Amino acid sequence: MFTTRFAPSPTGYLHLGHAFSAWTAFEAAQQAKGRFILRIEDSDQTRCRPEFEAAIYEDLAWLGLSWEQPVRRQSEHMDEYQAALSQLESLGLIYRCFKTRKSLMADIAAAPHGPVSASVDHALTVAQEARLLAENRPFAWRLSLSRCRQYLGARWEDLGFLANGNWVKADLERLGDVVLGRKEFPSSYHLASVLDDAAQGITHVIRGEDLADVPHLHVLLQVLFDLPTPEYHHHRLILDADGKRYAKRNQAVTLRSMRENGTSPNQIRALVGL
Ligand code: GLU
Repeated sequence: MFTTRFAPSPTGYLHLGHAFSAWTAFEAAQQAKGRFILRIEDSDQTRCRPEFEAAIYEDLAWLGLSWEQPVRRQSEHMDEYQAALSQLESLGLIYRCFKTRKSLMADIAAAPHGPVSASVDHALTVAQEARLLAENRPFAWRLSLSRCRQYLGARWEDLGFLANGNWVKADLERLGDVVLGRKEFPSSYHLASVLDDAAQGITHVIRGEDLADVPHLHVLLQVLFDLPTPEYHHHRLILDADGKRYAKRNQAVTLRSMRENGTSPNQIRALVGL
């Protein structure tokens, strides 16, 4: 059955862009007589706040949306992400990256057009790694594209997905060796999103075109974990008068402040071109 989702992170109040995205997914589900699921992407507990989560429910209900219960909250499934990370570790497909933000920035400055993380040099000797671990240095778990390529053999060339109805061959180098987990918490947006979409039976992922690159990597994770690949649909972004995307920190366009100023859901629909 057609199943789609809206998956906000409670790191700020929802704004016009979220309203458009949530309505787009919700109405696609209604049209297909399918299911609409709300998921709270709160695996990074350092950035999420309970009041933002409460506001998500309130704002979406105000827009007229309804969703299935119970709502999946990523923070309640950390053991699943940990198990998946351990599986990749035992296959030798992830490695610890001890690079600091500063040294990553220097890498990027040296190769400004390459994918951010592909420039990471991960050739640590066993002794070097043991020393850094003994020093209790923080690290991130990164997916090694070169090892995945070896592991998948001929299957590597077949990786691809449907986006807006067209078959797209995966370009794995686009995102580089991405972070899948951290020392402090065993997850990342990529890992949790892929595992949750499968756990929730999502057949159609509908979200903004700012995330259009992400399936190039997600399809690889789906194959590694033997999960189905949903269809992707990337919708236009809602831009402000300067042609920029709305940021969560811009209070003026939060649904909450617009509601307080007397804007109605119908006016919001018109503002986002629905
Ligand atoms: N939690 C992500 C965000 O707020 C959602 C990305 C997705 O739909 O996969 O941008």
